[in-house]
Amino acid sequence: MAIVYVGLGSNLDNPAKQIRQAVKTIAEHEGIHLLSNSGLFSSAALTWHNEPQPDYMNAVIKFETAMTPHKLLDTLQAIENSQGRVRNQKWGARTLDLDILLYDQLELNDERLTIPHPEITQRAFVLYPLNSIDKNLQIPGFGYLADLLNKVSMDDVKFSGEMQ
Ligand code: ATP
Ligand code: CA
Ligand code: CA
Repeated sequence: MAIVYVGLGSNLDNPAKQIRQAVKTIAEHEGIHLLSNSGLFSSAALTWHNEPQPDYMNAVIKFETAMTPHKLLDTLQAIENSQGRVRNQKWGARTLDLDILLYDQLELNDERLTIPHPEITQRAFVLYPLNSIDKNLQIPGFGYLADLLNKVSMDDVKFSGEMQ
């Protein structure tokens, strides 16, 4: 079994509802045993290069699974699609984004997957919810979560309620 952390994001069609629905679907998946979830965190969209976008809602969940990273990516992408994800523009607005943040202490980099997720260390909307689940995490290749948190601004993300 692997311990996996997945980041959830949405900024379309009732983002909080999208995140809650996705957590429910993931928790009910036969190959996944949910261990914990963060609350909901809102942040302004990063609009570098793109048109302005609605604010994001983000959360992180932790679960156990026997699925390989690639099988898990297939599963998560199917869930994104089932919630109406349309892939047009990179970093465009979306109903649901599911990113594999950590998979045990694995470091992997191929044409489909980079684990740990490469942007994890710079994103307050990932680091704060992660920290609310496990304060002592080490990110393979990047060091302690606590040290990474010191380098991002708390002002970029706002706690916005519990998951349930
Ligand atoms: P970002 O990766 O910067 O958060 P994004 O989430 O908007 O951007 P997507 O369009 O959702 O990017 O995904 C593009 C591709 O990223 C996916 O098809 C997938 O193959 C790849 N990918 C690489 N590493 C990961 C990962 N750790 N988790 C999820 N997808 C990944
Ligand atoms: Ca993403
Ligand atoms: Ca993604």
